[in-house]
Amino acid sequence: MPANGGRPGMTLELLGVGRRLANELGESLSVLVLGDSLTEAEGRDLIAHGADKVYIINDPMLSTYHPDTFAAATEQALRRLQPNIFLMGRSEIGQDVAPMVGFRLKTGLAMDCLDLQVDPATKKLIMIRPVYGGNARAHFMCTDFSPQMATVRPKTQDPAPRQEGRQGSVEFIDVALDPSVKRSDWVAYERWESTGGVSLASAEIVVSGGRGIGSTDAYQQTIEGAAGVLGGAAGASKACCDAGYAPPGNQVGLTGQRVSPKLYVAVAISGASQHIAGMGTSKAIVAINKDPDANIFKVARYGVVADYKQVMPSFIRKCQELVGSGE
Ligand SMILES: Cc1cc2nc3c(=O)[nH]c(=O)nc-3n(C[C@H](O)[C@H](O)[C@H](O)COP(=O)(O)OP(=O)(O)OC[C@H]3O[C@@H](n4cnc5c(N)ncnc54)[C@H](O)[C@@H]3O)c2cc1C
Repeated sequence: MPANGGRPGMTLELLGVGRRLANELGESLSVLVLGDSLTEAEGRDLIAHGADKVYIINDPMLSTYHPDTFAAATEQALRRLQPNIFLMGRSEIGQDVAPMVGFRLKTGLAMDCLDLQVDPATKKLIMIRPVYGGNARAHFMCTDFSPQMATVRPKTQDPAPRQEGRQGSVEFIDVALDPSVKRSDWVAYERWESTGGVSLASAEIVVSGGRGIGSTDAYQQTIEGAAGVLGGAAGASKACCDAGYAPPGNQVGLTGQRVSPKLYVAVAISGASQHIAGMGTSKAIVAINKDPDANIFKVARYGVVADYKQVMPSFIRKCQELVGSGE
């Protein structure tokens, strides 16, 4: 039973992993969606992407996101539907709501899973998530509680393909949301815009700069410049953000954003474990660093030992040529 918590791409990834697990377990796959004016057609679209049942909750209190109302609606639905497994995306909403729901249902929850499998002996869910700052992966099982709950890291699962003609049911369910119950409230909302127009979380290509970039001008020219040419997002190490070269919202790592793009280009980044915790699952990593012993080369598929100032201008020029020629 997946719910994405705000990202359309994540919904398809949850449907992909949910369908696989449901097939392995011989169970049906349900989707729970929350909103204020969702239609049956939107539910049918999820069925075309692999769901067997779609449960829709429409309520005016769900028109904008609030942790209390989303958690209360999800909790009430789960108490009624009694799923064996409940998955959410590790989006901003998923990170908020999943722990609240897990606590209220008195069940276990594994956050930020990189993979989910079924234990052949017990048919329980094996939830695989990074530990020790991303240096190891731990396998968790929720043996005694129900539902088994996990949030899934974006871009770690194959999205479910659309299949015309799939059959399934769409059901609208009611919940009782009490506007007077507020355990939390917004104090302030500060959006950290990722520069370059493409969001870090959903970018297929991320170009990140480290402290070795040396200045804000260099970051804008080299890192944002390369990201812009490639249609990707600009990222940064914590040291680069702390130095004021990059905006704080661009930070990638343990205490920043976690990304899994197809291509991650690390420029003048040493490769501290806390940085790798946020980008180590990228499909291909290219590192440019003048220190041949830099740790980043241990996770890089391609490495260039050089001063970035010599490499990056020709890299950006070549990318511009290739993008211009449509290759
Ligand atoms: C609790 C905690 C949480 C943290 N969370 C994060 C996090 O989320 N994200 C994160 O990134 N860090 C995090 N850190 C910080 C982390 O430990 C490192 O300090 C940080 O990642 C280092 O950033 P850096 O590689 O840019 O800088 P440095 O370690 O200073 O490395 C700079 C690199 O640039 C190279 N370089 C310099 N000049 C050039 C040049 N001209 N051309 C090519 N290469 C050059 C150098 O050889 C060096 O390898 C955290 C630390 C702690 C304790």
